[in-house]
Amino acid sequence: MAENRPDGAPAPLRPATVAAHGGHDPEAAGGDVVPPIRPATTFARDADYALLNPEGSYSRDANPTYRACESLLARLEGGAGAYLFSSGMAAAMAVVQALQPGDHIVAQSVMYWALRDWLREFCATWGLGFDLVDATDSESLAAAIVPGRTRLVWIETPSNPTWDVIDIAAAARAAHAAGARLVVDSTVATPVLTRPIELGADIVLHSATKYLNGHSDVVAGALIAAREDEFWHRVRANRAHGGAVLGPFEAWLMLRGMRTLYIRVARACANAMAIARHFDAHPKVAEVLYPGLETHPGHDLAARQMSGGFGGMLSLRVRGGAQAALAMAGRLRVFVRATSLGGVESLIEHRASIEGPGSPVPPDLLRLSVGIEDPADLIADLEQALADVPPGS
Ligand SMILES: *Cc1c(COP(=O)(O)O)cnc(C)c1O
Repeated sequence: MAENRPDGAPAPLRPATVAAHGGHDPEAAGGDVVPPIRPATTFARDADYALLNPEGSYSRDANPTYRACESLLARLEGGAGAYLFSSGMAAAMAVVQALQPGDHIVAQSVMYWALRDWLREFCATWGLGFDLVDATDSESLAAAIVPGRTRLVWIETPSNPTWDVIDIAAAARAAHAAGARLVVDSTVATPVLTRPIELGADIVLHSATKYLNGHSDVVAGALIAAREDEFWHRVRANRAHGGAVLGPFEAWLMLRGMRTLYIRVARACANAMAIARHFDAHPKVAEVLYPGLETHPGHDLAARQMSGGFGGMLSLRVRGGAQAALAMAGRLRVFVRATSLGGVESLIEHRASIEGPGSPVPPDLLRLSVGIEDPADLIADLEQALADVPPGS
């Protein structure tokens, strides 16, 4: 129940409560305690040609099941509007394709590699300027922005796979001073830990495949906008015409996953912190990369910018190089060797093998997506796998 404010009006519900209810109101829905799935591809109009349900017209663009999920996301991020996409990459494409030839993008050199590589190729072939910069240094980021020409500044925080923390407020100031928009890929932080719009972001991107859905069974993306301006309408048009939407069944699964977002993320953060502390200074581990550790270069900023935890992602650099790291991963029994992140089960990945030649990722790095298992089992699994790494190698 919402508590009452002094003026008698109920205080707005906190995000964890809104998420637990899936943003759903059983009374308005005719009694269903959970939101229904609405599979229709098209929606009827009355005799005067008005849509009977303004949330549904034709499901390439608007379907009530998407709308339920989108309005929940907009509430959790504090945005004016949200759109779901068929993947995180489709969401990113809808933003970039809203630009015009000659426009310029500044992105960060260490970020989700598939997106960085696609950005580089797309910009080269579609007449867009593109520069990569070390965004952990707010001054370098600002210096790379070209006033009047840079339209998008693109950051990811914490960023794959070193978990660098980028100062969202500083990036927003620099982008806005030059007339550019700030896009924040907040996949890893989730709205539980960071609310980029409150810090000045214009658009928040999620690979909803990861924590938002959280069960490794839906591929989805989402964008949330601070304002519904002309640029946002172009983004919407790209989705409506390109058809990169989620079906209603998958949107419904995602909505179900989001109801447990707050407890899943809290547990993943606690488990990741336990693992980071345990393996920090471990003789077989050269370095633990986790913003929750005081020794991580982004720790102080993370402590200010994130609340409730430092995320469920961390990386270990195994002593002995790529061979030792790969062999160690091969001995794991609880961690699953697989790409992706943000599910309830822990995953591990040797990123350099996946990214191939030219990857900036150190060859001895293993990326861990920490799930919600008992942390003692996760630590024991990593310990037994490290036990065979030759000492001091
Ligand atoms: C996975 C991921 C993406 C791409 O999302 P898909 O849903 O796989 O298309 C983008 N950014 C980050 C940080 C990711 O982890």
